[in-house]
Amino acid sequence: MILESEYKSRRDKVFKKLAKSSLAVIFSAETTTRSHDTHHPYRQDSNFYYLTGFKEDNAILLFIKSSTKSRTVLFVQKKEKIMELWNGKRLGVKEAKKRFLVDEVYASEDFIKIFKKYARRRKNLYYEQNVKKICVKKIAKTAKSFQTEHDILPLIQKMRLYKSASEIELIRESIAITAKAHHRVMNMRKSGIYEYNLQAEIEHEFKMNAAYSDAYISIVACGNNANTLHYIENSKALVEGELILIDAGCEHNYYASDITRTIPVNGRFSEAQRELYNLVLDTQLQIIRMIKPFVKRSHLQESAERLLTKGMVELGILSGDVKELIKKQKHKKYYPHGIGHWMGIDVHDQAPYRDAKNQEIPLQKGMVLTIEPGLYIDAKDKSVPKKYRGIGIRIEDNILVTKDGCENLSSSIAKSIEEIEMMSKN
Ligand code: ZN
Ligand code: MG
Repeated sequence: MILESEYKSRRDKVFKKLAKSSLAVIFSAETTTRSHDTHHPYRQDSNFYYLTGFKEDNAILLFIKSSTKSRTVLFVQKKEKIMELWNGKRLGVKEAKKRFLVDEVYASEDFIKIFKKYARRRKNLYYEQNVKKICVKKIAKTAKSFQTEHDILPLIQKMRLYKSASEIELIRESIAITAKAHHRVMNMRKSGIYEYNLQAEIEHEFKMNAAYSDAYISIVACGNNANTLHYIENSKALVEGELILIDAGCEHNYYASDITRTIPVNGRFSEAQRELYNLVLDTQLQIIRMIKPFVKRSHLQESAERLLTKGMVELGILSGDVKELIKKQKHKKYYPHGIGHWMGIDVHDQAPYRDAKNQEIPLQKGMVLTIEPGLYIDAKDKSVPKKYRGIGIRIEDNILVTKDGCENLSSSIAKSIEEIEMMSKN
């Protein structure tokens, strides 16, 4: 749980970064239409949530900074019986005043009026410049009366790089549900069913544990389907003797998890599958062992490329000198993606990889990232020994950087061949 005082301290940090005599505005997410008259489930904007913990739409957070004092103003939907009858209870101005540690609360409809009042006396404006929200457009119009305008997002995103103790706790809770989901499918009989059946089992577990939803569309890819990196059709029958790549994680209390496991349909790895699987697994374990403060992600990426390429040469998938092969990018055909990404409120967390000088940001205590090496051998790739064709493997865990190393937050999820085979039913 995140206390109101933590949200307040985040807003205080924003204040410190604003220039003197500034206004900064951040809007809640808008509702999005799915198709005529139906909507996607509402989810709060991640940055707005990070600064308020408020889940309602039609809300605005305004920072007012003058030379002498700083004030935060929150705008919320006012209570309205008819609207609440249709769409659910609202907190309303009065209750919002009690709950949030902000200086003032008004109804959302008063925003433009109050914004304009403060705009007259402020020199700098911060807002979400790249966002196409209707309100943002209105703000942008008034921007001409300011001396400078800035994008507020980089400022917040930089803060989101470092997770607090309570955020880490929420990520652990999210992973715990995802762990159950992966173990559920490992445990199941999987012959004669379809990829979407496994997706349903996973999402069943998410919902049964009160997760809000999946953090991204689950990938359940059997056999050669795993060689389509963003395979989300999940429509094919599971084939006896093949592997299933499952990349699935829930979002719980606004925190994501992002786990990939690759498991056999019939519960047993074949010899060829074993060889490839252990190459990916050994690579992943070695990369995780390298993680500590001041290590760079690019270094992890290069190491993964080297280890996988060396392994592929040993298995006869590539031939030649490892350094030469990497120089010529020959590994990219089989390991085309990055080693991992930041994770937090967003599964691909909105946090920078480079600083203002375009230098890579090294790992630091409190950062959370995924480590997800993979190998993808297309069924039609005749340059590879036949036994490896049509196999796609990825193994992904969620890692917290600690003071002197790291902690694998998802280490409870079965991963070695022995663990997976033991869990699997035929
Ligand atoms: Zn990932
Ligand atoms: Mg993933």
